[in-house]
Amino acid sequence: MTIYWERCDFCGRYEPVKQCTLYPDLMVCIHCCLSCPKRKICPKPAWSIEFKTKTMGKTGKTTKEADKTKVFQELLSKLSS
Ligand SMILES: [Zn+2]
Repeated sequence: MTIYWERCDFCGRYEPVKQCTLYPDLMVCIHCCLSCPKRKICPKPAWSIEFKTKTMGKTGKTTKEADKTKVFQELLSKLSS
């Protein structure tokens, strides 16, 4: 998995972006990916729902917090390898 920090091709904001699955020449941020109307037909959206819940954990329960931290650390280790 590769995450770039650059400009989203859809909304133009500087966000962490991933390569869009349906349009490989475009980079998409999590906000655009999650609100994309084509997610229903997208075989493998660049940003998953799981990732969204992990990054938006303001109201998360304490039991889930440990999980989030663990998953995030795994993600970081993948990025740095
Ligand atoms: Zn965007």
